[in-house]
Amino acid sequence: MNTHGKGGRKMSKIQCPRCGSDKKAKILYVKEEYVNKEIHEDNDEIYISHEIPESGSSVGKYHCNECGFNFGGNSAGMRKTVRRVMVSVEYDEKRRRDCIFLRTEDGRYFNYISEEPSFGNSGNVSMTQESWKKFVKSVFSCYIMDWGYKYGKDENVYPKWSVKVEFYGEHANLKEREDFKEFGGIRICGAGEYPVYWKKFKKVIEKYSGEML
Ligand SMILES: [Zn+2]
Repeated sequence: MNTHGKGGRKMSKIQCPRCGSDKKAKILYVKEEYVNKEIHEDNDEIYISHEIPESGSSVGKYHCNECGFNFGGNSAGMRKTVRRVMVSVEYDEKRRRDCIFLRTEDGRYFNYISEEPSFGNSGNVSMTQESWKKFVKSVFSCYIMDWGYKYGKDENVYPKWSVKVEFYGEHANLKEREDFKEFGGIRICGAGEYPVYWKKFKKVIEKYSGEML
């Protein structure tokens, strides 16, 4: 990955998944009495949080200085328990794409993409475990856990889309998220509007399915 700003190539910047701003600060979880005022005050690259997280919980790594959203929690544990990633996009009344990535309980990996949401066994493409791991990591590098739940004001506007990520085991029951309570996983939808990281996410789906979404 190119991180040099000069030289013609675009620098890949971490953007806030909610508002798109790249004005972010690293969150420092520290008790009030340990804050070093000289170092930490007026430093907009560091954001002090006094809400010390419980050990093992996934907490934000970055704080958006624009909208105040905290994002970028550690997803390593969750990535290991992904069961299914589903994406559906209706571009208009005639054109629809459905895509599914699945890890079976006995440890096999498949992806399937079609014009129809008919996820039969025919048309499934096998994936290697290595490829599955990279795929899941790429999905989470789009900050999928930090997207909003719903995009767009009018649900009758195209493109209409949805993204679902389901999990095995304990991660199907994340208490702090509404969609987990209801569906046992991430469930995001939109109409006429995409999240900040959609372009990157779409590329990931296309790379690992080998087809255009
Ligand atoms: Zn923001």
